[in-house]
Amino acid sequence: MIGPQMRWERFAARRRRRERQAAGHAPAETYDCRECEHPWPCPQARLSLLLGFEGDRIGLMMYLGAHLARALQQLPDTHPALIVGQILHWVPRRY
Ligand SMILES: [Zn+2]
Repeated sequence: MIGPQMRWERFAARRRRRERQAAGHAPAETYDCRECEHPWPCPQARLSLLLGFEGDRIGLMMYLGAHLARALQQLPDTHPALIVGQILHWVPRRY
C-alpha cells in the first residue's frame, strides 16, 4: 500500500513527463500551436497527450476540459461548437 506522499510524487512525475513530451507543441493565446501553427492540439500534440496520459481517458478529458474553458474565454468570436470540436472531439473512444 502506498501513502499519499508516494501517490503525489508519482502524480507529479507523470505530469512532468507529460509536459516534457508536449513541450514545443503548446497552445498559444489563439489556441494555435506555438510550434507548427496548426489549431491546437496539432497532430504532434495529440500523440504526445495520448502517450502522456497512458490510457487515462478521464484524466485526458479533464485536462482538455480545462483547456476548453480557457479557449472559450480567449476566442469569444469563434462559435463554441467549433472550439469544442477542435479541443475535444479528436480523442478516440478507446485507446
Ligand atoms: Zn504543433
